[in-house]
Amino acid sequence: MEKLLLIPGPTPVSNDVLDALSEKTISHTSDEFAKIFSSALNSIKVIFGAKHSTPFIIAGSGTLGMEIALTNILDDGENLLVISHGFFGDRFVELGNALGAKIDILKSNAGDTVSFEEIRIKLKENHYSAVTITHVDTSTGVLSDVKRITEIIKEVSSDTLVVVDGVCATGGVEEKMDEWGVDVIFTGSQKAIAVPPGLTMLAFSQRAIEKRKTLKKSRTYYGDILRWIPIIEDPHRYFATPAVNMVFALEKSLEYIMNFGLDNYFEKHRSLSRKIRNAMKLLDFELLAKNSPAPTLSVFKYPEGINDVDFRGLLEKKEVVVASALGELKGHYFRMGHMGSLTEEELFVALKRIIEVLEDMGIKVNKGKTLEIFVES
Ligand code: PMP
Repeated sequence: MEKLLLIPGPTPVSNDVLDALSEKTISHTSDEFAKIFSSALNSIKVIFGAKHSTPFIIAGSGTLGMEIALTNILDDGENLLVISHGFFGDRFVELGNALGAKIDILKSNAGDTVSFEEIRIKLKENHYSAVTITHVDTSTGVLSDVKRITEIIKEVSSDTLVVVDGVCATGGVEEKMDEWGVDVIFTGSQKAIAVPPGLTMLAFSQRAIEKRKTLKKSRTYYGDILRWIPIIEDPHRYFATPAVNMVFALEKSLEYIMNFGLDNYFEKHRSLSRKIRNAMKLLDFELLAKNSPAPTLSVFKYPEGINDVDFRGLLEKKEVVVASALGELKGHYFRMGHMGSLTEEELFVALKRIIEVLEDMGIKVNKGKTLEIFVES
């Protein structure tokens, strides 16, 4: 068996998508490329639910997406509210600090969510130019209720811009940017969209673009959306060379997702997460995000007596790669991604390998029942 990459990104990439990377590179201003780029932009709009917003595809990782989001809507010294469910929520604080924003943070305990009431109170206490929400925090596996939080922001402070980090969510969980009233959303290529790392995809609402136009100064050149909008309108134009072959790969994967059906793709993520969690529960692995678990990854707590490094090391020897937990959770939990092109068959094999590792460690497990639960969930 080939090594199965079950970390929460990068995720496994299909051979078709990998083949697209090795196609002959063509001119970035050719008709042929413009067609492929436009098609990918259209699919991105569908995935974000952003029919009336402006999409972007820019070479760089998810962190560039975060940076483009904030540099285009915040002037120095503006108020930013960060809703954090973990490490990647906290990253907005570092970024906001680097940009000179005045930041307030609402932070949950690991695995929990910030309550709607706390958000409402904070929004009444202070006026914020923008609020950031991490749709799925990859350190805790917590899913934010973006729809409800955005409703609250609209009720209390209708001119506050809503920024959503969809890096570990987009494609694996429904996002309806326009309908919910999100102003900026972004994701990365290497998670549920199942393309190697290297692209960030974003969408800006008209309101967010208007805000960019009012900024006193742009603090980004490459990431300035006003420089990219002409290219989005006509991809024959040039601002900075797009990652041509990465766009081929993206278009290939998006074409697959669109043909599979977006709702079916969401359902596949829900189904895989349900199956693996029910099985792991029987093996005494507790899920960290109890109240609002994401369908894209799981953060599992080790039962007493299992050493993190040993467990992951033995599993990797059996060609299954999972990730360590982050921060204070490290050593006590591990993270498993189950998104993108991953199939039920592959996840079933991973579960069998986990059972083998536990048996090798001398732990008694109910193998038959665990496998049955996976199949039947
Ligand atoms: N936000 C979230 C939710 C993420 O999971 C990640 C990456 N794991 C990032 C932002 C940063 O993305 P990248 O590592 O691609 O820069």
